[in-house]
Amino acid sequence: MHELSIVMEVVKQVEKLAQEHHVTKVKSVTVEVGEVSGVVKDYFLDAFDWMCKKNELMKDCELNYITIQAISYCQDCKKTYPTTKYAKECPYCHSNHTYLVSGRDFMIKEIKVI
Ligand SMILES: [Zn+2]
Repeated sequence: MHELSIVMEVVKQVEKLAQEHHVTKVKSVTVEVGEVSGVVKDYFLDAFDWMCKKNELMKDCELNYITIQAISYCQDCKKTYPTTKYAKECPYCHSNHTYLVSGRDFMIKEIKVI
């Protein structure tokens, strides 16, 4: 399960930060997840829930899950378009010379502590 390993990575980061700042309780974690990052939201939420229950630091921690829209850029007509709707082909000029500009990443945006 791909999501579980990402959640474990998140927990690791949170633990590291908490240690550095002598924090004992984390209130909420905000993550930004790209539409085409391959993360399935439901699985991620489940995994996060499960990890938090086992972790004293993150018990009852809230998760804010923000989805970042995937955007592609067309090198021929210089326009951008939503990736998930049109995939690789530009909807304006039907070129295939396109690349993804956002929506692939996963990042921790904010961690709130008590
Ligand atoms: Zn185009």
